[in-house]
Amino acid sequence: MTSDSFSSLPISSAQVANLNSLGYTQMTAIQAQGLPYVLQGRDLIAKAKTGSGKTATFGIGLLTQINPRFFGVQALVLCPTRELADQVGKELRKLARSTPNIKLVLLCGGKPFAAQKASLEHGAHIVVGTPGRIQDHLSRGTLTLTGVQALVLDEADRMMDMGFIDVINEIIEQTPEQRQTLLFSATYPAAIKKMCAAILNDPVTVSVESEHADSVIEQSFFQVKEPQRKSALLSLFEHYQPETSVVFCHTKIQCDEVARFLHNHQIDALAIHGDLEQRERDQVLVRFANRSCAVLVATDVAARGLDIKSLQAVINFELPHDPDIYVHRIGRTGRAGETGIALSLFTPQEHLRVKGIEENQHKPCVVVPLETLKATRGFTLQAPMVTIQLDSGRKNKVRPGDILGALTGDAGLSGSQIGKIDIYDLFSFVAVELTVVNKALKYFQSENGKVKGRSIRVRKIA
Ligand code: ADP
Ligand code: MG
Repeated sequence: MTSDSFSSLPISSAQVANLNSLGYTQMTAIQAQGLPYVLQGRDLIAKAKTGSGKTATFGIGLLTQINPRFFGVQALVLCPTRELADQVGKELRKLARSTPNIKLVLLCGGKPFAAQKASLEHGAHIVVGTPGRIQDHLSRGTLTLTGVQALVLDEADRMMDMGFIDVINEIIEQTPEQRQTLLFSATYPAAIKKMCAAILNDPVTVSVESEHADSVIEQSFFQVKEPQRKSALLSLFEHYQPETSVVFCHTKIQCDEVARFLHNHQIDALAIHGDLEQRERDQVLVRFANRSCAVLVATDVAARGLDIKSLQAVINFELPHDPDIYVHRIGRTGRAGETGIALSLFTPQEHLRVKGIEENQHKPCVVVPLETLKATRGFTLQAPMVTIQLDSGRKNKVRPGDILGALTGDAGLSGSQIGKIDIYDLFSFVAVELTVVNKALKYFQSENGKVKGRSIRVRKIA
């Protein structure tokens, strides 16, 4: 018997048999690391990518705690979307086969409220759902969370991206302080760290790196003469055609110049640096994160606020003097098992910086002749989304679901055409696909274009 076997855990033999019947003969890495703590009742932060078996990591733990004779909600699982909640519900039902009489209720938007209310009245032990609908039930008094012993935040980073932070905090306030809290996230940005500090009690952190290829960064260096620098940059875009990238520059003036240059060559770029006002900085970061800008041109300092999961490329318009800064810059690509590319321009005068990087990495830098790059005539790079700003926000009690609801309901957009929603105190941003931006604008500008029953003013940010 290895320690990776489920029978090494303090769970019932019926559950071990059930797991075997599901074909789960060995624990996955995150289960082997996380389950012992979950079963001890500890709070947990688990970092692992999709498909690593996170659901059973919390599911097996939840199920051992449920008292089927008590008809109240004892476990609550928050998921970012209806689809993910469905998946989690299905997996939990399979895991619950060995524990008879456990009732699980799914509470997601887009489904009739009354039916959910009726299921809750019949008594539910486990609730799985999306934050918006769960909060609706709480505010209408159809759900009580005072008996919750375990709270799970699944895909916490995605819930943050979708602007659910306030709603989640409100839900958590309705649960007992003496509860077990388990938080799962593929990434661990500052907002998640902050949330963990606030809602977890002495948590254990487990982290599983991708089991296959580690994140790989392909690094290439290109020697240029100073006057060629900008045209070389263009060649890099034409050849590699990254959908999302950051171009690092040295100075604020350089950032503005390079962004303007790219823009003039049909590459959708925005500059970010310390001279922008906070409001402008926020706007640029929002637009880049919600994919309505393809290229961000940044100084090292300005890029600090950047939290992007999948940058396809990092481009050094100029190399930094310090090799550690180079490592830090390129670490923004190739995350979570994906291959990223790091492209660096250097002049003969800057050759010492390349040397420094070689010494730091203990391996030679690959210098690629610029002539080998494919030129693509008429190449353009347009971001797939456009950001719309709404003059309504948290102070107007607007929630992501309200904007989503207006756009998918009356405006006739499909959910897949709507991207990230960011709610601020006095305004909100929503990203929509380029092809439907006019439809969305027209809807909001029409007489029935309302959010939370209120007419609002909108504008496209360009
Ligand atoms: P995640 O939430 O990390 O993306 P899931 O919990 O959805 O991953 O699990 C991914 C898949 O792996 C599911 O189909 C699940 O049934 C399966 N799975 C989970 N744990 C095991 C295991 N120990 N052995 C075999 N398959 C497993
Ligand atoms: Mg999952």
